[in-house]
Amino acid sequence: MAEAADNVVETINGGCHDFKSFSYSDRDFLVRNNADQVKIDSLKGKKLGLYFSASWCGPCRRFTPNLIEVYSALSSKGDFEVIFVSADEERSHSMVTSLRCHGLRSLLRFHDPQALGRVVQGTVSDLEGKTVGLYFSAFSFKPCADFTLKLAEVYKKLKEKGEDFEVVMISLEDEEESFKESFGAPWLALPFKDKSCEKLARYFELSTLPTVVIIGPDGKTLHPNAADAIDEHGIEAYPFTPEKFAELKEIEKAKEAAQTLESVLISGDLDHVIGKDGTKVKVTDLVGKTVLLYFSAHWCPPCRAFTPNLVEVYKKIKEKDEAFEVIFISSDRDQTSFEEYYSEMPWLALPFGDARKSSLSRKFKVQGIPKLVAIGTTGKTITTDARGLVKAHGADAYPFTEERLKEIEAQYEEMAKGWPQKLKHKLHEEHELELTRRGSYVCDGCEKTGEIWSFYCGECDFDLHPKCALEKDKETKGDVEEGNTKEGWVCDGEVCTRAS
Ligand SMILES: [Zn+2]
Ligand SMILES: [Zn+2]
Repeated sequence: MAEAADNVVETINGGCHDFKSFSYSDRDFLVRNNADQVKIDSLKGKKLGLYFSASWCGPCRRFTPNLIEVYSALSSKGDFEVIFVSADEERSHSMVTSLRCHGLRSLLRFHDPQALGRVVQGTVSDLEGKTVGLYFSAFSFKPCADFTLKLAEVYKKLKEKGEDFEVVMISLEDEEESFKESFGAPWLALPFKDKSCEKLARYFELSTLPTVVIIGPDGKTLHPNAADAIDEHGIEAYPFTPEKFAELKEIEKAKEAAQTLESVLISGDLDHVIGKDGTKVKVTDLVGKTVLLYFSAHWCPPCRAFTPNLVEVYKKIKEKDEAFEVIFISSDRDQTSFEEYYSEMPWLALPFGDARKSSLSRKFKVQGIPKLVAIGTTGKTITTDARGLVKAHGADAYPFTEERLKEIEAQYEEMAKGWPQKLKHKLHEEHELELTRRGSYVCDGCEKTGEIWSFYCGECDFDLHPKCALEKDKETKGDVEEGNTKEGWVCDGEVCTRAS
């Protein structure tokens, strides 16, 4: 049965579709990315791929280049077409994508020859031979407003130094007022709601705001998003070349090596977090503990689902070791929702609206929540995916170190000792079941969840708990030894836990 984890994949099997079902109301066409209309009738008899995808979806972005390659190879035959069905928020245009061009010139030709010609101040020729930052922004989005100040400072300094650098702001702002507000900035911009704004966003597969795409003097894309680097390193990030980024990486490594809990959590006067009763807890009092930073918000369903697990794990770990703490870093929209959500949590929190939140998000590259970052007893980051470890191993994951993970792996191997690698089971007579490491799954025998090990048929996505598989097996064949659970482990059919 499908993994109970996040990996939900929908498949659409067979079924006949009327081509007309692609059209509705008065529309009988789709569009290409050069804005040509393609009559739906002309697709008759072709093999069609419907590509449901969105620019904000990481797996989509990784998959798109593969699809383009296949598309390029097949489309020349003329009987194959791909229809992109965008799941981008508020961007419901369907486009047939075959994006291949790179570089500023071809990009402009590709989309709209007049596009940058309509740049509010200046013309395209002003940009030739320069390093250009295409700044995708929405001023009403706070991180963009904050970053705009930073970019303006860097821009001004580079100009003063006489560098050939220019910024073109591509505003994805919906409200004209906010657009005008952002217009106090010193650089060039595309006009408000210019249709090339959305096109450029799609072309560069924009996944986050703010984004600064760097186009080199030769017109080629130098870097897909230099925003973090600009934020962290200011003008030191210029001229945004691969060599420069390699250099910055070394600097960051050195910083990481010197990281302490204080350097992570103290910023000027801000030197404390808060406890349940509203008391201030000094960051220095937490030094020497393993600390989890929990980026979360009540409006985020995966966060709400994960919090109770984390509460349970927190309590278990605390029973064993006091030198452990969790700090909630809220992305809630207001104080009230923060307080309401925090009331479900037994640990510490960064005060709501604290300025350290945005720097922490940047530091740990928080692109999505929930996110759980583990800081070790020495103050160094152990992992930025403690959530994955908590989900996979519960409180056993503590203290989240490499060594601990190795121990867990060894225990899992130990647990499976004596179990057959393969077996036949009467509940699944078509195929042999293979002993397989699985995340979290639902047993097709007892229909309860399971984890770690499953007797599994990959072809049919069929799972059996080792307990269910071996017990029944014993009944039918009588050839499995007494006690199907490894010594020292107790299996309740859902989870195998170590007997204490
Ligand atoms: Zn079962
Ligand atoms: Zn099967």
